Amino acid sequence: MSTPNVGLVTAEQYFYHQSIIDFGPDAEPGADLESPVPRRRLLNLLRKTGAADACRAIAPIALDRADLERVHTPDYLDAFQSLSAMNGGELGDYAGFGRGSYEIAVLSAGGVAAAAEAVARGDVDRAFALVRPPGHHAEPDRARGYCLLANIPIAVERVRALGLASRVAIVDWDVHHGNGAQVIYYDDPNTLTISLHQAQLYPIDSGFIDEVGEGAGRGANLNVPLPAGSGMGAYRYAMTEIVLPALEAFAPDMIIVACGYDAGLLDPSSQMAVTARGFGEFTRLLVQAAAGSAQGRLLIAQEGGYSPLHSPFCGTAVVHELLGWEFGLVDHYDLDDSAPEQLLQEYQRQAIDAARRAGVDSGALPH
Ligand SMILES: [Zn+2]
Repeated sequence: MSTPNVGLVTAEQYFYHQSIIDFGPDAEPGADLESPVPRRRLLNLLRKTGAADACRAIAPIALDRADLERVHTPDYLDAFQSLSAMNGGELGDYAGFGRGSYEIAVLSAGGVAAAAEAVARGDVDRAFALVRPPGHHAEPDRARGYCLLANIPIAVERVRALGLASRVAIVDWDVHHGNGAQVIYYDDPNTLTISLHQAQLYPIDSGFIDEVGEGAGRGANLNVPLPAGSGMGAYRYAMTEIVLPALEAFAPDMIIVACGYDAGLLDPSSQMAVTARGFGEFTRLLVQAAAGSAQGRLLIAQEGGYSPLHSPFCGTAVVHELLGWEFGLVDHYDLDDSAPEQLLQEYQRQAIDAARRAGVDSGALPH
């Protein structure tokens, strides 16, 4: 098999966005989860292993206002731009930002858009977009959960406007619910949105199994809320029982992953136990799924992941897998697949089976 041609997007500006969250009067300042550090260290590690050099560098696209307005309301964009030009502000829950974040967020969406276009045109076989700020919680008229612009939907709509793709599947394995794509595409039958997440973590009031899409979009939204404590056994079962059959049934012509590492076993924002190696395994499954229907077209876009030590390992596992490389790192926090946390527990199986049944009922999954 020939070496895949993998695109890598990043930009120095991504590390200069400042997220500012008020955790209340009892939280001593200076200890927020979100910072540039995990992303910077991921890029450094990709350089150290040679993976960054093995990828084809893709520059972010300079998006214009029309690109953003395919997803966001003009009022939201105006408010964001003007607050950013002053001293920053907050336009949604857990989503404060500093001065100049508008331009960086547009460049972040432009990074995902550039990667999507390169994949859709066949310039590269697959791509990884190492962007910041993330996007999967952003909704058309509000920022949420560190996310300011809906990076992936903006990229999808641009690729569609260029006539390069029609049916798109978004697989969100960030540990938090992919509410943004769900809201944006809830009635769209041509965009399959699948979210695997820790149940009722964030947003606490969305991501339930009965949110299956509406109207023509019924059966094109799948939620797999997993119990806290889920490890590789639960994730593997969810992948093989729900994600892969849903992708096969939907037959997208492009797959985009909202890739967080916050289901990782060292992540401070959640209570899951996915290994770094596990993120490579998920990537391998989606490479295979993309080969099945989408002519291999796969884009992995950076979302969350807050462990400065572990998330660079997780991201490196993803990129090495895209390149067809071995994981190859010395990971002191690897857990053997036979460790108790990694085995599929009965209550986890029941939760995943319930999500699967909801998908069968809605038409997202075959009987
Ligand atoms: Zn997350």
